[in-house]
Amino acid sequence: MAVVVCARCGQEREGAGKVGLPGSLGAEIEARICRECWTEWLSTQIRVINHYGLRPAQREDRDKLYELTREFLQLTVPAGAVGGRGAEPPDASEV
Ligand SMILES: [Zn+2]
Repeated sequence: MAVVVCARCGQEREGAGKVGLPGSLGAEIEARICRECWTEWLSTQIRVINHYGLRPAQREDRDKLYELTREFLQLTVPAGAVGGRGAEPPDASEV
């Protein structure tokens, strides 16, 4: 089982594993999120879906949900997945 340094809690823990999300989001969660944070999101997202009245069957709502997933899991800075200018280091030097 893969151990990750979780992007959300910062702990070295067992990774979330296959989460069944498409594209870079699913890959990032597998690589950067621990099982505990993922489990926490799974129970939280039910409330989030209700709160926003999201219908995950619809593409627009699904995109919104993915956005909220990133926010919750602190994956808002993609790990070099997008853009044409190359990846910036994830450890911000301005901190
Ligand atoms: Zn975590």
